[in-house]
Amino acid sequence: MSFLCDTHTHTARCGHAGGRDEEYIQHAIARGLNAIAVTDHVPFYWLPPDRHDPTLAMAPEELPRYVEAVLALKDRYRGRIEVLLGLEADYVAGQEEKLARLLESYPFDVVLGSVHWLNGWWVDAPSSLPRYRLGAAEVDRVWAEYAQALVAAAASGLFDVLAHLDLPKKFGFRPSTPFAGVQREVVEAVATAGCAVELSSAGRRKPVGEDYPSPELLAALAAAGVPVVLSSDAHAPAEVGWGFEQLLATARAAGVERAAVFRQRRAVALPLPPGC
Ligand SMILES: [Zn+2]
Ligand SMILES: [Zn+2]
Repeated sequence: MSFLCDTHTHTARCGHAGGRDEEYIQHAIARGLNAIAVTDHVPFYWLPPDRHDPTLAMAPEELPRYVEAVLALKDRYRGRIEVLLGLEADYVAGQEEKLARLLESYPFDVVLGSVHWLNGWWVDAPSSLPRYRLGAAEVDRVWAEYAQALVAAAASGLFDVLAHLDLPKKFGFRPSTPFAGVQREVVEAVATAGCAVELSSAGRRKPVGEDYPSPELLAALAAAGVPVVLSSDAHAPAEVGWGFEQLLATARAAGVERAAVFRQRRAVALPLPPGC
């Protein structure tokens, strides 16, 4: 039997998503999904409290309540849809121990690893546009720096799934060659680490207008045996399962017929439906 899970969704706690927790679950049911992973942003574990931005992530004291709320939804919806407890956690070089301790403290089903933050600079924030606009050489430098962090994130062993793998393309700024010349190293690092990657429709809602990862990168990852999950990165209930019909077609075109589903941080590969 086929199985469809949206493996990346947020809640209003992060300060830049809307709706009530339960509405996300109800939209997942309405879309015919078998499972939804709630994966809100990790609190700013790597920065002192005076540098936490409440419009980007929940406060540290909110995390236990978030976990409780998602576990309550898991119970309440049992038999109707599988609710998975997840987290989207930033990878920050040098802060691995801190994140490992945080992740061990809760019974997560799935942990997504993201590189949004590079040495005090946001890869995907509109405030970073001036740097991208400095020209092709600077865009290549961004991609190279990002690739280095991504390889380290994969190797860290902290994450089950790497999110939006080619995130620096968000505003449409492409490197002169894929990943500024190191795409092969990125794919090898992900495959060696045994992480899954997400095929996410979020990029289609952004200026770049293309899923993460690009079809060409997805094909390379699939050929290297990297497991795939499907995701929307929903920041509103109506975005749950958004664009999944096209994601299924894209996955199939890349030769991907099964998706990974994570329970208590263990993956099983389940067949994707032919369409939805
Ligand atoms: Zn993200
Ligand atoms: Zn996200």
